[in-house]
Amino acid sequence: MLISAALQTVSSSLGRLETLPRAAASDPLVGRAIGELRTALHEAEEALAGAQEEIRSRDNEIRRLVEALVYRGDTVERAGSRYRAADGEPVGMPLCPVCELDGRFITQTFVSTKVGSHNECPRCKSVFSPNLGFGYPDGV
Ligand SMILES: [Zn+2]
Repeated sequence: MLISAALQTVSSSLGRLETLPRAAASDPLVGRAIGELRTALHEAEEALAGAQEEIRSRDNEIRRLVEALVYRGDTVERAGSRYRAADGEPVGMPLCPVCELDGRFITQTFVSTKVGSHNECPRCKSVFSPNLGFGYPDGV
């Protein structure tokens, strides 16, 4: 990875600065230039480390979204709701449409209380009309 190589170069340059003979920095102009160079290299090192972490994070998000796209192929839509599918037919409870926008396929749960019932997403806590979904064929 290019950032790793750049990070290593900056780190080794910082290391080389530390090994300069003290006599080289005894001249005020040279000493100031070395100090500025050290500061610039530290800033570059931090920026590169931040960029590397951001790239790693985005790579993970891309991987998760690709997996979600593949997974979506294992689902089917019926009457405006998305369900897991077995042989192209919906099974189980509907999936949360809010989380789906985020690339996550979370199964809604049915909630029954004294005042009524509704479906709810266990992740985002969105509330939906009560829907018991579809049954599970044998072996699913
Ligand atoms: Zn949700």
